[in-house]
Amino acid sequence: MCAAERTPLDAPLNFLSTDSVLPTLIFDKTPLWEEKGWIGAPLAKYLRPFINHLRRRCAPTTFGRITGEDERQTLEKARQDASMARPQTFHKANPPARVIDPHFELTGAKLSSLTQAIAYRGILERRDTPNRRQTEENLATAQAHMKTSQTRCSIWMSARHKDFSRAFAVFLWKLMHGGLKCGAYWSKIQGYEERAMCSHCGAVESIQHILFECNATGQSLIWSLARTIWEKKGMEWPSLSLADVLTLGLTAWPSQKGRVRPGATRLWRVLISEAVHTIWKLRCDRVVGHAEDEQWEHNKTFVWNKLQYTLNNRLALDVESVQRKYGGSALKRDLVLATWNKVLRDEPALPRDWTMYRGFLVGRTPALRVDLEPD
Ligand SMILES: [Zn+2]
Repeated sequence: MCAAERTPLDAPLNFLSTDSVLPTLIFDKTPLWEEKGWIGAPLAKYLRPFINHLRRRCAPTTFGRITGEDERQTLEKARQDASMARPQTFHKANPPARVIDPHFELTGAKLSSLTQAIAYRGILERRDTPNRRQTEENLATAQAHMKTSQTRCSIWMSARHKDFSRAFAVFLWKLMHGGLKCGAYWSKIQGYEERAMCSHCGAVESIQHILFECNATGQSLIWSLARTIWEKKGMEWPSLSLADVLTLGLTAWPSQKGRVRPGATRLWRVLISEAVHTIWKLRCDRVVGHAEDEQWEHNKTFVWNKLQYTLNNRLALDVESVQRKYGGSALKRDLVLATWNKVLRDEPALPRDWTMYRGFLVGRTPALRVDLEPD
């Protein structure tokens, strides 16, 4: 940057280097980044004004690699000069100005090379909206709930944990922003205030109420089934709060020796995320799908089957994901076994490595299923 800015525009300029980083950035990367309007491009802050300056030049500019011995010696001499104590007579130069001349600047992105994802990133880069109040509160709750200090970034990253279904990750994102349509959401909208109340209990229908307090069939039954499964794993059921849901991706279960138990930890994430999401879906089914009958509720068998079905699906997905055909993205067999061992039906009758077992096929017994029955 300094060399380019201090060389007159009509004097030749030769860049020499021991590696090819600069030519690669200029000749290979820059055309691609320019097509995408520099969205998400690293070094854009420096490279953009640099390219702009080079375009202003009318004399040749060359980029080369040092190969000859005399060139190497020149470079070595320059390095020694630069590292020597500065003579008193030297004046300190200003850092590069990084001025951009609009006549030599490509702006915007090429429509043909723009994807929705890049465009969205571009919008986010330009926007600087403050967080919503509810988001701030939830982030603070999540941070306060963790024993170790967590950055906001790690909380957001954990909300998209790979052990979550995509649908749950979306749910959690909305929950974090206070964007789920219930309770306080409706009380702010004229004409819809009554929707803020739980039609079953008459209380304010907050997320806290839906997930942990509502008397309509679903909430407490799902939690008691989740507890049954968790205790089969040999684990103690903790008291749960909304903060546990917000920090679910960061929760780890240690063994007595203090090491993280990967299997139990993963089961916890799958179990709690699916339980929460099932409760939410049951609530929407009841409130939105049966709005005309306020006293309507699910029957217990339906709720039981719904959770069973959801968890069996996750189990089946896990078994499928360990197959070798998925290569590097395949799940580790040991992790899948560690996740579900002790919570399967008729486990002693299953082969030791049941991930190879084709028991999902109809008619084979015993089928590979999660066991929701209390011992
Ligand atoms: Zn209720």
